[in-house]
This record gives sequence, structure tokens and C-alpha cells, in this order.
Amino acid sequence: MQDNVFKEYLEVKSIFKRDRDVLRPSYIPDKLLHRDEQINQIASILVSALRGDQPSNILVFGKTGTGKTATAKFLGKEIQTAAEGLPEPFRDVRYIYINCEVVDTQYGVLQNIGNHFIEEFDERIPPTGWSTERVYNILWEKLDKTPKVVVVVLDEIDRFVYKSGDDTLYHLTKINDDLKNAKISLIGISNDLKFTELLDPRVRSRLSDEKIVFPPYDADQLKDILIQRAAIAFEEGVIGDGVIGLCAAVEAHEHGDARRALDLLRVAAEIAERSQETEINENHVIKAKNKIELDCVIEAVRTLPVQSKLVLLAILLGEENGNSKQMTGDVYTAYKELAKKTSTGILSQRRIADLISELDMMGLVSARVKSFGRGGRTREILVSVPLLETKRILERDPMLEPVKGYKLKVQSTLM
Ligand code: ADP
Ligand code: MG
Repeated sequence: MQDNVFKEYLEVKSIFKRDRDVLRPSYIPDKLLHRDEQINQIASILVSALRGDQPSNILVFGKTGTGKTATAKFLGKEIQTAAEGLPEPFRDVRYIYINCEVVDTQYGVLQNIGNHFIEEFDERIPPTGWSTERVYNILWEKLDKTPKVVVVVLDEIDRFVYKSGDDTLYHLTKINDDLKNAKISLIGISNDLKFTELLDPRVRSRLSDEKIVFPPYDADQLKDILIQRAAIAFEEGVIGDGVIGLCAAVEAHEHGDARRALDLLRVAAEIAERSQETEINENHVIKAKNKIELDCVIEAVRTLPVQSKLVLLAILLGEENGNSKQMTGDVYTAYKELAKKTSTGILSQRRIADLISELDMMGLVSARVKSFGRGGRTREILVSVPLLETKRILERDPMLEPVKGYKLKVQSTLM
């Protein structure tokens, strides 16, 4: 009889100590490293809540993976613990964390906050169906029943503003004028401050009473973060020399992003594990880096709109034909050929030039501007992704089924 297919894998000792989710972004360590300054700044503002006063609103910003979410959640636990030790009426401090990537509508945000103050299940605000005004009024009424200070964290607040505008923020920053017992303050968290340009000037100034910046981590800081997490995630002796340093160096060089550094270590560990090795070495890290990069390319290509996919395929096929110096005109000719075969409409050359620029911005192709003769300019377009793999991903789109395995008819421009 054949052995069970999982047997061989089960016999390999896992190099992860506990579950590997310890390395995932959702895991919050008990102690956050190298964020004392930011934590103290925010704590010195939020402490007002523990004295029964309304803290200033805070705008937190910094690139991805700089510990903004982890810090916000950590402070929530801390303030809740501190409040429990206080006498009435100072005990009632509520810290409400909302991820605006998940809750991104006016209604959703108000409902979410409102339901924190409604204990009876059958009185809760339903997920849909009420007017926003009714939700707001209930929120306001329930909130103001007893003295309390409420801190609402709107993480990824930019998504919310881009999708749903700033009405809710206007109301939430103004609501204190109408509250008799309760007080509410906001912490907005974002990757960049561009979204504030969309805000009504009054909302903008109220929301950013205080601004706190989370800078990217440097290599040494990333190293400490990785060492801390690795100690929880792995058995001793599993991590080879130089592995942590390499992960930290790679990410510090690129973004200073702790999430990506942790990802790199996790993927390296998974690669080591899959090849049934008991130690992670630098080679695994390099493979992990390549794998992550390729995964990013795959995801970017997979989610392109169909017209962009056709343009990219046209460029790939041109290069496959040996034309390494394609110009916009070549790509357009090839694109038209492909578009005719599929049932998509054919866009103008101007639009295709725009789509090429977008692919260039995404790093999928590189379009270098070349000048020739009397001020004439054109672009030389080169593929920046692995040809075969990318072609395979494109061909998986059902819309591109008619051009699967297609060879271009057109002769490329001879240079
Ligand atoms: P952001 O919200 O700024 O994008 P996160 O707070 O989600 O970043 O952090 C990404 C990952 O890095 C999480 O797993 C988080 O626990 C970890 N991390 C970030 N900063 C620190 C830190 N200072 N100490 C320990 N872990 C950190
Ligand atoms: Mg975050």
C-alpha cells in the first residue's frame, strides 16, 4: 500500500516553535521596539482622557510597516488598563479601533462607533437600512448618556476619505459642541498626508491638532525587531549566521518596513522547511527575496485591467520576436493585432501610450525616452519582468484566451 502522502511531510520537524502567525503583520508583540518617542508623544496627549478631559485630535502618519497600527493597538491596551485602576467617573475611557480598509463608509463608521454604546443586542444599529442621520442621532444620544471619554482610532483614514468623503469627520470633530457628558477625540492614521487636501479646511485643522510622524526603521532597528520576533517564532539554533542581518539590510535598503522584513524572514523559513532543512541560511533569504518579488509581479500582472494586459502581452510578444528596441508605434501595431483577436475594443495610440506609462510606473516595463533628429522623441520600451512566467499569467485571463500561444504577424521595425 502507498504511504499516506502527508506522512513524509509530517515527519519533518517544523522549524517554527509556535504557529508561524507570530511573523504575520496581525501579531502585536508585548513590547514595541524603537517607538518610545512616538508612544510617549501620543501617551502625553491621551493622558487627558484619564483625567476626564478631551485629548487633542491626532494625525499619525508614516510609511507602511513603520509600526503605526501596532502602536495604536498597544496604546489601546495600555490606556484601558490604566483606566481600570481609576475611580469613577474617570474609569470610563473607551478606545475604539476601526480599520477603514474594512469599514470605509460613513454609515459603517458611525454604526461601528454607535454600537459600542448599545448593550442590548436587539437595539443595535443594523449593518444597513437606516438613514445616516438616524445612525448619527442614536450614536449621539447613547454616547452622551453618561460621562466618558472616547478615543476613536481611524486606521488607514485616507481610504475612508477617498471613498466616502469627509462628512463623518466633520460631524465627529464637531460633535463635542453638542455633547454634555461625553467627550470624543480622534486619532487618524495614514501612509501619507495627501488625503488631507481633500478635507474641508475646518476638518483638516481640527483633525490635525497634533501631528506625529513614524519614520522608517534603519537596519539596526529592523534587526532588533527581527531578533525579538524570531525568539518567539523559532526553536533555538534554527537561524543561521547572518540571516537576521541580511533580512534587515535588504529591507532597510529598500523601505525600512518592518512588515516586509518579517515577511522575508517567514518566507525564508518556509523555503528552508520545505526543502527539509533544519537551519535557515542566507541562501534561503535570497531565494525568499526573489520569491516575494515574483509574487508581487504576479499579483500586479494578474490584477491589471484587460487593456493593459493586452498592451503588456504585445510588448512581451514583440520582445519574444527579437525586437529589443520597441517603440510606441510597434507596440501599438502589435496591440491592435491582439485586440482584434479578442472581443475587447481597440483604444487609440494616445491611450496606449498612457497605458505604457502606467506599466512603466509599476515597474513592469521600462520606457526610456529617446530623442532623435530634430527634436523628435520616442520611447524605447523594454520588458522588466520574467518573460515566460508573465506570459503564462496573462494567458490565464479568460478574456485573453483567443490570443493564447499567439505569434505576432507583424514584422518589427528593423533598427
Ligand atoms: P503600519 O501600520 O505602520 O503599516 P504595523 O504596525 O502593521 O505597520 O507593523 C508591521 C509589522 O511590523 C507588524 O507585525 C508589527 O507587529 C511589526 N512591528 C512594527 N513596528 C514594530 C516595533 N517597533 N517593534 C516590534 N514589532 C514591530
Ligand atoms: Mg497599519
